[in-house]
Amino acid sequence: MSKIAITPLGTVSPYTKENMNCPGFLAEYNNQKILLDCGNGITRLLKFPKVLENLNVIITHYHKDHFGDIGAIQYASYVYHNLGTLNRKIKIYLPKNDFAFNKKTIVSNNESYAEYFDISDNSNYSLKDLNISFQDNKSHSIESYMIKLQNKDFKIVYTSDVGTINFDKLIEFCKDADLIICESSFLKKHSTNNKCHITAYEAGILASESNAKRLLLTHFWPEEDKNLYLKEAKQNYENVEIAKEGKKIILKR
Ligand SMILES: [Zn+2]
Ligand SMILES: [Zn+2]
Repeated sequence: MSKIAITPLGTVSPYTKENMNCPGFLAEYNNQKILLDCGNGITRLLKFPKVLENLNVIITHYHKDHFGDIGAIQYASYVYHNLGTLNRKIKIYLPKNDFAFNKKTIVSNNESYAEYFDISDNSNYSLKDLNISFQDNKSHSIESYMIKLQNKDFKIVYTSDVGTINFDKLIEFCKDADLIICESSFLKKHSTNNKCHITAYEAGILASESNAKRLLLTHFWPEEDKNLYLKEAKQNYENVEIAKEGKKIILKR
């Protein structure tokens, strides 16, 4: 039987509020941990030092709400390594082309016990039988990677930040997913000309058109009532829920 657990660590943007953090999800599969983004505040939900064992940190793009806590994780790896608790480097995956300065800031941090890997369009890595693949939908304001975690039993997609201009490609990437963790930055009432994010209503269309089994909404405005996002997504897709910090989802097969 295979089992994968997904724990939302951060579901709001661009700032933290009360018990809500900026974007981050922890996927646990066998003994591997995969942190999908590393936004401000997420470290308070991680169990140190255990989380550092077999930890893969993926930063989807260099908007600060998605990597605000990376320095804390790096420094924790450095301290626990020096204490003899952590013997294997954590792995950090970073977009290759964009924002060289930020990459340099992260990679050149010497107080860190980590190794670094590039993400580029359509690149992928394998953690034993789990494949992790990346695609830039080229619809966000900067280079930003969607992530697909896939083995023989599961296909899970984390959209990170995406916009509306390449919606067909987005549907294609999410095709038949068991779970889509989808950004839904806007409600209909926010309707601006901002095409760099999608609405909860559009997230519902995405899940329906891609024939997904389950939809988890995230990336909310901190001041909004989350039930409004749920309501708008439900107009297009029934099996949808709101991501909540600490509320773990377990997929089994
Ligand atoms: Zn962004
Ligand atoms: Zn964002």
